[in-house]
Amino acid sequence: MNMMLPQRPALVDPFRRHITYLRVSVTDRCDFRCVYCMAEDMTFLPRKDLLTLEELDRLCSAFIERGVRKLRLTGGEPLVRRDLMKLIRSLSRHLSSGALDELTLTTNGSQLARYAVELADAGVRRINVSVDTLDPEKFKTITRRGNLDQVLEGIVAAQAAGLQVKINAVALKDVNEREIADMMQWAHGAGMDLTLIETMPLGEIEADRTDQFLPLSLVRQRLAEQWTLEPIPYKTGGPATYVNVAETGGRVGFITPLTHNFCETCNRVRVTCTGTLFMCLGQEDAVDLREPLRASEADDLLHAEIERAIAHKPKGHDFIIDRRGAAPAVSRHMSMTGG
Ligand code: SAM
Ligand code: SF4
Repeated sequence: MNMMLPQRPALVDPFRRHITYLRVSVTDRCDFRCVYCMAEDMTFLPRKDLLTLEELDRLCSAFIERGVRKLRLTGGEPLVRRDLMKLIRSLSRHLSSGALDELTLTTNGSQLARYAVELADAGVRRINVSVDTLDPEKFKTITRRGNLDQVLEGIVAAQAAGLQVKINAVALKDVNEREIADMMQWAHGAGMDLTLIETMPLGEIEADRTDQFLPLSLVRQRLAEQWTLEPIPYKTGGPATYVNVAETGGRVGFITPLTHNFCETCNRVRVTCTGTLFMCLGQEDAVDLREPLRASEADDLLHAEIERAIAHKPKGHDFIIDRRGAAPAVSRHMSMTGG
């Protein structure tokens, strides 16, 4: 007998936003300890708490079944998760079937030279690589243990494998603020967009956030003094607003969660490496998906929890960097939620 499976409805939140973009953190571990992201001495989660690769696959596939068209794997550092390529190869079936438009990842680039060809073979077309400075010493200071050359080699390997690379850089007061134009020229010269990110108050770190915070409005103003920035409607499914730089022909994106509200068009949700679904990067509201994943081999419980969660997606976030204190607005680290 040919039993038709019930068609599950697309995920639409109470504000009529369709959830089409899922970001999944596949590990909280990382080979770097960037000063704005992690404490020097991080305690990572016990492995049993992490979703297995099979659970990650089921979870991503459930969201794809409900209308997610773009999937970004992140972390921690996704490429340090053992056997991550198995998951990527398996998820690529959704690209072949046409259910998914894009499978991508955000990486610090340290392992890229090793995996670039495999990623391209699995159908990954674009990746984001985080580079905050082109000064090797500063790079070491910001990442506490990273090697800039290794990352740059990774980028070259990624491009050689046919991957389109976008550079993400966190704008850091006094650290890279005078270098941003150089980074832009470097990125554009190599055919890469540059997206600048304001620091977000996520997780306890040693530094004072108010010392790190550099408003992108200021960065943009400074760039505009020397370059012709033409606002363009370009969108990559994320919250960045883009300008075209007339002199270089490249694009610069600005992600400004603190000075500009992008919540109205938010189409995304995030899942941590332990299976916690966060409906909003800036809010604590969360739903545990690990329990329904582990409670049954069928996905009915999982879908019910996903629906319950989406019905509670908040309208917007409440980030504030308090001038008087450095307490984070949200206590989890970016490496938990995955940026
Ligand atoms: N390890 C990978 C990487 O660095 O690209 C992926 C995970 S990382 C958490 C994702 C992005 O979040 C990176 O571009 C990183 O610079 C950014 N990030 C981390 N902590 C941040 C914070 N507190 N504020 C703003 N951006 C942050
Ligand atoms: Fe690791 Fe990325 Fe966080 Fe840096 S930003 S510590 S590379 S997870």
